[in-house]
Amino acid sequence: METYSHAFFTWALAKHGIKAGRAAGIAGAVGATFPDLPSFAGTAYYVGTAYLREGWSSMHSEELLDAIYFHGPFGSTGSALHSAVPVVALLIFYRVLKLGRHDQRRILLWFLLGWFGHTIADFLTHVDDTRPLLWPISDWEWSSPVSYYNPLYHGQEFFAVSHGLMLLIISWLLFKRIVGRKAPEALPGDRLQNPARSPATARRDGSLRGGPNERDSA
Ligand SMILES: [Zn+2]
Repeated sequence: METYSHAFFTWALAKHGIKAGRAAGIAGAVGATFPDLPSFAGTAYYVGTAYLREGWSSMHSEELLDAIYFHGPFGSTGSALHSAVPVVALLIFYRVLKLGRHDQRRILLWFLLGWFGHTIADFLTHVDDTRPLLWPISDWEWSSPVSYYNPLYHGQEFFAVSHGLMLLIISWLLFKRIVGRKAPEALPGDRLQNPARSPATARRDGSLRGGPNERDSA
């Protein structure tokens, strides 16, 4: 998938889905970006500013694409980071060494989860530009029936669905935020001053404030 899609969905899941907090959301987005950094560096190194002007057409040869995405210093690093093996090993270390005790805000955990999610999402959305998911254990590669961009393999439909979903999530979060902001004016200090509220008041409070999830959207 596009790097920004990886980052967005991981952020939304960590911060608003699991409600792991703001720091976890940011860490998840950074982790989800991480496997694509070598290809950014490779593009900057081999193509430079021409990429900004010409986009994909600046990557004119197979050799160039290979050096950026698959082999050589940039491509090999990127391929290694797109394997699930290194990140799963790190997640096991995290568990075995009980690193969670030193990771109260779940920053390292969500960095690793974002990275892991990226490897799986790319595994499921690449057709003729696959990478070995189980490197260095195995060189096995799998060609998905769905490409995140190639129109020959439902790329347009995938783009519409994934970007539609992102728009929907953004709209929902904005809606919740607007509704949640208005509530304190309508009910000043209600929560603090009336700890023993009637169920009717609690319901009114909850609905006006966007429910118990509201505080996380700030
Ligand atoms: Zn990727």
